[in-house]
Amino acid sequence: MSPSAPAPARVLTVAGSDSGGGAGIQADLKTMLAFGVHGMSVLTAVTAQNSLGVRGVWELPVEAVRAQYRAVADDIGVQAVKTGMLASAELVGAVAELLAATDAPAVVDPVGVSKHGDPLLAESALDSVRAKLLPAATVATPNLDEVAQLTGVQVTDERSMRRAADAVLDFGPRWALVKGGHLPGDAVDLLTDGTEEHWLRAPRHPNGHTHGTGCTLASAVASGLANGQGVVEAVVAAKEYVTGAIAHGFPLGAGIGPVDHAW
Ligand code: PLP
Repeated sequence: MSPSAPAPARVLTVAGSDSGGGAGIQADLKTMLAFGVHGMSVLTAVTAQNSLGVRGVWELPVEAVRAQYRAVADDIGVQAVKTGMLASAELVGAVAELLAATDAPAVVDPVGVSKHGDPLLAESALDSVRAKLLPAATVATPNLDEVAQLTGVQVTDERSMRRAADAVLDFGPRWALVKGGHLPGDAVDLLTDGTEEHWLRAPRHPNGHTHGTGCTLASAVASGLANGQGVVEAVVAAKEYVTGAIAHGFPLGAGIGPVDHAW
């Protein structure tokens, strides 16, 4: 093969497909392109979805997930992993095993329910998320609904957000990024490893087209880590990116439009 430009950092998303292109692997790969890394995907589930909600979910067999992962890890190599929708306890367990066996940092977005209220993770998978997936995470990025589901802590203010972050850290990720975007007022997130505490604030943008924000944030963090940034630096840059993407989110279909990756 002829010599060419050096390869960019390689980032793998292990997540579901959103046929509407706003969230899931589609948002992940767009984010990775914006961060100048090479995006790769292990598909866990296919959703039939548009701006109005999720009409159907089809999980892939565990063997198909393992095979996709091995194919890219054996040849191309992975410098950071992002996980999103994992759908079932079986898939959560299999992905957690893969993460535990790699040295690459892992950003775990413990996706539970879509903005429309559609379940993207079986209730029966919650224990596996707590016991297997979170311990394998470098950074776990739950929103407030996911925090409540996983820890039982209902966040209403910054004090309870700190309690929630501690409860997430108890499951074993190195860092917890608790996303407070569902609270009124500024969009305030807390990043902590139990020792350091970083409060990240952005003004709330009135734009309601926010489909895919969680996927975008987690993929941006993974891209920064693959590019050699530390966790704090990567999260600060990711928050800035997602804030801009929300400000430029656009209407699409009759429901909630996507954040924009080309701003
Ligand atoms: N669909 C898929 C495949 C996802 O992975 C996610 C979120 O992670 C969603 C939908 C929900 O996205 P949102 O809650 O931003 O609407």
